Amino acid sequence: MTVTEKLAKWYEKNGRDLPWRVKGGAHGDPYQVWISEIMLQQTTVKTVIPYFDRFLKRFPTVRKLAAAPVDEVLLYWQGLGYYTRARKLHECANILVEKYDGEFPPDREKLLKLPGIGAYTSAAIASFGFNLPEAVVDGNVIRVLTRLKGWKEPVSSIMDRIAAFAGELTKASVCPADHASAIMDLGACVCTPRTPLCTFCPLNRECVAYAEELTEIIPDITKPKKEVKEGYVFRIENEKGEILLRKRTEKGLLSGLTELPWNTDKSFPFDADWEITNKKVRHVFTHFDLTLTVVRTRVSGIPENSDGFFVPPEDFKKHPFSTLMQKVLKLLPAEE
Ligand code: SF4
Repeated sequence: MTVTEKLAKWYEKNGRDLPWRVKGGAHGDPYQVWISEIMLQQTTVKTVIPYFDRFLKRFPTVRKLAAAPVDEVLLYWQGLGYYTRARKLHECANILVEKYDGEFPPDREKLLKLPGIGAYTSAAIASFGFNLPEAVVDGNVIRVLTRLKGWKEPVSSIMDRIAAFAGELTKASVCPADHASAIMDLGACVCTPRTPLCTFCPLNRECVAYAEELTEIIPDITKPKKEVKEGYVFRIENEKGEILLRKRTEKGLLSGLTELPWNTDKSFPFDADWEITNKKVRHVFTHFDLTLTVVRTRVSGIPENSDGFFVPPEDFKKHPFSTLMQKVLKLLPAEE
């Protein structure tokens, strides 16, 4: 039996009965799937159930929700926290009425364009609401899949691999909605974060983490350490007191912005009388931390193949500078 077949068999007997769940195919009312998924963000199943029931009683359809005053929606949300979610629900309901006649489009790309519906929720609505083969990947699913494969790397660094594996299993399933529920339930009830019940798990024969006793260290949910980079930023002044600037390319980091030349390999752009100052600028990018040391020189000109153009400091305001460069420029008066 394949992993998906084993999961399906386990789910038949052990799948949880939840108020927003329908077994054996598409839900039939994607509205309920949507409400439950939004409520379940940062809130436990147990807490959500009474809220879900109350909410559905008062707002049983997209139209009823759209027609209600937003303050009333917030009232029914009271206690769940993260009130932006409720505001977005109301906004989204109105768009659904205007654009889709109060129905959800059975299309992940269209769902993704709706307010408050991101990668996860769109997959959940497509899968549970329409039984489409979209992989639904939450924390429970990640735990099951990484343990199954024995992947020890930090989760954040292997999300593509996890999503691909989840997609593979989903495509192999007979009923994508049940498959998504099955793998989530396995993660919530058997493959728990601490002391998973491996001896009762339908996938224990295939599971690398179980075989190699790695369940304590998988999944690794620590954030990967940021790379630390050091380099130079160059204050190159000509005889007229103008400063050399350059424009970044239209693609990649800080694309299209103007800057003083800088690097992360501490090389010099051309031969000159360089002075390495003790001025440093620190900046945090998403993927690395950067420290640049200000290096300066005065030149009569720059080599022909050099990148950049001279600009008088009073014209700097005409150029778009990044936050990093604004930090560098703050140091300039002290450098003059
Ligand atoms: S065998 Fe254990 S670790 Fe592996 S998937 Fe099952 S419960 Fe999780």
